[in-house]
Amino acid sequence: MSSVDILKHSLPHVGVVMETTSPTKPLIHLKGVSKIYQTDAGRFVALDNVDLQIHQGEFVSIVGKSGSGKTTLINLITGIDQPSSGEIYIDQKPVHLLKESEKAVWRGLTIGVVFQFFQLLPTLTVIENVMLPMSLCNLYPGNERLERAYELLKLVQVEHQADQLPSFLSGGEQQRVAIARALANDPPIIATDEPTGNLDSHTAETIMALFQDLTRRGKTLLMVTHDPDLAARAQRTIALADGRIVRA
Ligand code: ADP
Ligand code: MG
Repeated sequence: MSSVDILKHSLPHVGVVMETTSPTKPLIHLKGVSKIYQTDAGRFVALDNVDLQIHQGEFVSIVGKSGSGKTTLINLITGIDQPSSGEIYIDQKPVHLLKESEKAVWRGLTIGVVFQFFQLLPTLTVIENVMLPMSLCNLYPGNERLERAYELLKLVQVEHQADQLPSFLSGGEQQRVAIARALANDPPIIATDEPTGNLDSHTAETIMALFQDLTRRGKTLLMVTHDPDLAARAQRTIALADGRIVRA
């Protein structure tokens, strides 16, 4: 299987989304979503009544100052966090109503998440980290997982580190492994929080080209970034300020 085939592989799963989603219905739909934290200093509104629609195949960048609510927004869309109020539908599924026990598998099949600080499992090798989502969701025959994980590592150019523990890798390499892991289950949505923040400019360019290629293949991409040049590479930019969308 070549790296190109790994991307072609994306299409059947994307097809599933297309069949179930009417062209007019957004893939991601937030209705009046707020997130309020209770802190020692009192009530803090991290997201304030956010309405948002994102359609299948869009490449959306999310910008805003530190503390504006970007990570909170990603965490709500991926079901990592619960909204204080409002509704979140992904492919018409009410994510805000999913039970905690249902969420891990739902997320594993639906959204590949690249966390700001990678969150690779330190006791697993690089390739084992990439295979993990496939095992958790029981996707791909057991004997194909290793090869698929290796091809994904090749795609992000870090296959030479396949058998290392993550702590032996540079920040940029760990970031690339996290991207390979996010692609492991071929999910229709990829959500990334500062995906190129730890990368040198050449690697960042490779990753951006990969994201653009994924959207051409029907994936939907959400990318939090501080970098205005990178944000401009997306088709659409959502700007947050003090928990509100000020540009969509
Ligand atoms: P960004 O990713 O844009 O930098 P975040 O979404 O991480 O912003 O945070 C938005 C605001 O919510 C920040 O002011 C942050 O301090 C606050 N916040 C985030 N998580 C928590 C939490 N668990 N408890 C209290 N406040 C929080
Ligand atoms: Mg953040």
